Amino acid sequence: MSTINQSGWRPTTPQAGETSGQTFTGNRALMLEEPLIFEIGSTETTGVDFAEAPSGKSRLAGLDRSKTIGLPGLSEPEAVRHYTRLSRQNYAIDLGLFPLGSCTMKHNPRLNERMARLPGFADLHPLTPVDACQGAFEVIHQLAHWLVALTGMHSVAMSPKAGAHGELCGVLAIRAALDAKGEQARKVLLVPESAHGTNPATAAFAGFTVEDIPATEAGRVNLEALKTRLGPDVAGVMITNPNTCGLFEPDMKAISDAVHAAGGYVYCDGANFNAIVGRVRPGDLGIDAMHINLHKTFSTPHGGGGPGSGPVVFSEALTPYAPLPFVEKNGDHFHLVEEETAGEHHASSFGRMVAFHGQMGMFTRALTYILSHGADGLRQVAEDSVLNANYILRSMEDVLDAPFAKSGPCMHEAIFSDKGLPEGFSTIDVAKGLIDEGFHPMTVYFPLVVHGAMLVEPTETESKATLDQFIGAFRSVAERAKGGDLAMKSAPHFAPRRRLDETLAARKPVLVYKEPQRAEAAE
Ligand SMILES: *Cc1c(COP(=O)(O)O)cnc(C)c1O
Repeated sequence: MSTINQSGWRPTTPQAGETSGQTFTGNRALMLEEPLIFEIGSTETTGVDFAEAPSGKSRLAGLDRSKTIGLPGLSEPEAVRHYTRLSRQNYAIDLGLFPLGSCTMKHNPRLNERMARLPGFADLHPLTPVDACQGAFEVIHQLAHWLVALTGMHSVAMSPKAGAHGELCGVLAIRAALDAKGEQARKVLLVPESAHGTNPATAAFAGFTVEDIPATEAGRVNLEALKTRLGPDVAGVMITNPNTCGLFEPDMKAISDAVHAAGGYVYCDGANFNAIVGRVRPGDLGIDAMHINLHKTFSTPHGGGGPGSGPVVFSEALTPYAPLPFVEKNGDHFHLVEEETAGEHHASSFGRMVAFHGQMGMFTRALTYILSHGADGLRQVAEDSVLNANYILRSMEDVLDAPFAKSGPCMHEAIFSDKGLPEGFSTIDVAKGLIDEGFHPMTVYFPLVVHGAMLVEPTETESKATLDQFIGAFRSVAERAKGGDLAMKSAPHFAPRRRLDETLAARKPVLVYKEPQRAEAAE
């Protein structure tokens, strides 16, 4: 039986085996329970004291609100504490290792933040006259130069605001290039089975038909299957390299050549660029368009849906179709090209991705990161990220099935499967066990080509000591699951919320607050 305390929230129910886990408040030491804001505040109270509004004639043409809006009133300390407590319930890269595969959750250097907060950048309005913000355009132009140089491509569109937005930008350019050649009939985009979910979603959103390309036993794109499928209806391919199994696609050049010979274009999902930056130039592999997640490879913050940035680099063939606007340098002066120009660049632009120029704050952070690392430092980023992932792979392969470990080293992420866990145990039990150990779980059940996948990406910013601690915890929970420890089935045991029905939460989220019925109190 649980009780409702003064503010109307329910302390957590003790779990089996717990004797005195219960506290009066529901708090556990400094882990504070936090009710909804509607449960703390009430519509009768308010934190502000405004003077009565002078009565005047309403200009709302009869559309004035007739009922109260029902928002809870809180004092300032109540409001501050509410949001601060909520923020403490969130795991963050500043708290510890965040091994989410495919996400490149690396440390966000504070120098980046300092630069992005300089008032000359941070307070700039997007409609500031070009002559009054030459410095900002120089940042965009310099970053664009680095991105083109690092990828060996021909041009870059800076404006897309995330990886998926960049994918859309890339495939729209492919569509525009095909249409310009009168090839409207090319409607199929081939996407390998192991692709990130955003790839087929982007292709479908842009009006293409999506077709799968199977993977080989070794987790790579099946080149023969791809070649067989090429034809006059195929617009191109979308390939992730390094792919989502954490493997480099060694046939990339052969894939590009085959696609080009068949009249199509090659889109590369560059979200995993971190593993190869400074080592491999996608332009040398025949790629026509690729997005770069500044919030992955170039350390700008992400998570919580926060602003990302997904510039897209283009080959010479696609450059005329790239979106507007772009920054150009004439002598010492930077200017913004907002219209199609007769020149080589953007002569047949497909249009715009956004109203203005993109994510200025992210550009400043990414350029700061690039300049503070230098070309040699960026190459070392890739090497260290690959080294760290292989350290985890080799430290775990005797405990967990590592499907591609025999075919050689991985790139920046290590993949494991649930093969070898006893009947009734799965990836989710290992992941939830890691929460009890104080680690954010790895990416689970993705990519789909590996059964019960666990995709671990440590990134280069973790020290050996941190990796050793993580490996110790990971081995411990994996061994307990392998040994059939039933307690693993209900992990996490120490988190404020226990094992949740995640499917229900995702499919039927409760988004509307309902006043609790008084009867519930007697439950
Ligand atoms: C992160 C990621 C994306 C999507 O990038 P967003 O910035 O989240 O839109 C696409 N593909 C892969 C492989 C990724 O890891």
